[in-house]
Amino acid sequence: MSEEKNIKYLKKITEKLDLSDLTDQIEMLTQIHRPKDFTEENIRMDDMIIQMEYAYNWAKRRCYAKRRKVGAILYKNGRPISSGFNGTKSGYPNNCEKDGSTIAGVIHAEKNAIVKLLKAGTDSPKNSTLFVTTANCPNCAEEIILAEISAVYFTEMYRSVVGLEELIKNGISVYHLNMKKVSDFDKKTESEGLYDYKNFPKDFVTTIYKSKEENNVEEKLNAIKRVREIYKDYKDGDFHDKFYDAAFLA
Ligand SMILES: [Zn+2]
Repeated sequence: MSEEKNIKYLKKITEKLDLSDLTDQIEMLTQIHRPKDFTEENIRMDDMIIQMEYAYNWAKRRCYAKRRKVGAILYKNGRPISSGFNGTKSGYPNNCEKDGSTIAGVIHAEKNAIVKLLKAGTDSPKNSTLFVTTANCPNCAEEIILAEISAVYFTEMYRSVVGLEELIKNGISVYHLNMKKVSDFDKKTESEGLYDYKNFPKDFVTTIYKSKEENNVEEKLNAIKRVREIYKDYKDGDFHDKFYDAAFLA
């Protein structure tokens, strides 16, 4: 298919998928390429759970924010390489809210994890995997793209889906981890010590977008459609409380 024909075809797809707000971006989307040397790590199911619970622990034990606590872990070559939570800059008072609203200058968990790693210089965020308790916002999407992180796992919804859509457009893998299913499984089995993963609910992880070498815009549009559908089912706030509590009570 010629490029012109392809763009025409993709624009039609946006209408078919009810994504006409993206029609104007089709030319730009066909030009995007993955970073050179892109690699995505294969992560075991139990490691996904361990890292997300670790991210929750940072939010629970360190974060002073009252409205929403977020934890983030950067993971590479089978181990966590950095961590972060949302909060004020170091040396600033730990108040994240004023009159119930988040104040300007609160740094998001993802940014804190990336900057902490860059400062330490112990590893590179390139080709690492981000585990974040709440889906990233559009600003953090830019930082994730710049840092060349290859995959993002999230549990709770953020009020806007735009951050996740940006990741998909840029060819970064996106997965949803349903930690409620993990805590339900824990309660049901009351297992001590090592888990029996044979009976584990495999659908606790949903692939929203799996990165491919070629820039398949149609596939990206389908993934954006999918993530918007997941978002439709949840209202901000009630999803947050339900999943946050579930992960903590496990
Ligand atoms: Zn953010």
